[in-house]
Amino acid sequence: MDWQKVLDEIAQEIQPELGVGKVADYIPALSAADPKAFGMAVTTVKGECYRTGDAGVPFSIQSISKVLTLTIALGFENEDLFDRVGREPSGSAFNSIVQLEQEQGIPRNPFINAGAIIVTDTIITHCRQKAGADLILDLARKLSCSPRVRIDDEVARSEALWGNRNRSLAYFMKSFGVLQNDPEEVLQAYFCQCALEMTCQELARAGLYLANDGVDPVTNQQIATHAHVNRINALMMTCGHYDMSGDFAFHVGLPGKSGVGGGILAVVPGICSVAVWSPALNKAGNSHAGTMALELFSEKTSLNLF
Ligand code: GLU
Repeated sequence: MDWQKVLDEIAQEIQPELGVGKVADYIPALSAADPKAFGMAVTTVKGECYRTGDAGVPFSIQSISKVLTLTIALGFENEDLFDRVGREPSGSAFNSIVQLEQEQGIPRNPFINAGAIIVTDTIITHCRQKAGADLILDLARKLSCSPRVRIDDEVARSEALWGNRNRSLAYFMKSFGVLQNDPEEVLQAYFCQCALEMTCQELARAGLYLANDGVDPVTNQQIATHAHVNRINALMMTCGHYDMSGDFAFHVGLPGKSGVGGGILAVVPGICSVAVWSPALNKAGNSHAGTMALELFSEKTSLNLF
């Protein structure tokens, strides 16, 4: 496969789509992103890396961090994790509170905000000796092989300042006895994980273990078990794109997780990990150009899993 040719063609064909949609501004620190920025990177299980456009520009990975926290929490709890968080698509907004009340404070899946807050709560329960956010940052640096990866303090502060909806979700789950730790401590770690700043190149490298049965193929380190990676990829396929997860599976056909910073991480099991970034979002909160670029990617490479 001529990966560089594929990426260069996508970067060319995606031009008319750049800037279509709206940059997230409900977290004010995100609103400064250039709506027309576009970057994409592929890392293959052989360790080769290909990139195009703004693939070296750091951006806020936001909800993509939920894949990393799920990996850590599954390592701690295995399937017991699913006693406190479900594994069904929610069919409602990523920050909805209505369903939580109907379902006794158990979030539908680990990728909606309430579910991710429970996952972060689990990490804090198991990891008293180190702040939850530090553990997540360490994993992001280790997987991306990049000590440059950091938590953007300004974004984390902005999230904390404007995070009343997330605060409501955490306290609501505490009232049901589902959240184990102090809601403020959990939220602090959650806001920091969302504020992780990475480039497409770093993200594609970081996601490689998901394409290789849990083992980083370059360092040979076991990051997650084969069974956990199956679970994570299944959840990315069914729940990774908010209320448009079905649409993403329909058009792209790959496990993927998006974030409101405009990034998407997608996985081709056995072959490669792909990261794309373009900040203008469609109405469901997924990168408009990023989603289309991945659709082009799966068409051009015939790597759509279906
Ligand atoms: N930090 C964002 C929030 O909690 C994450 C949203 C997202 O990327 O889905 O609202």
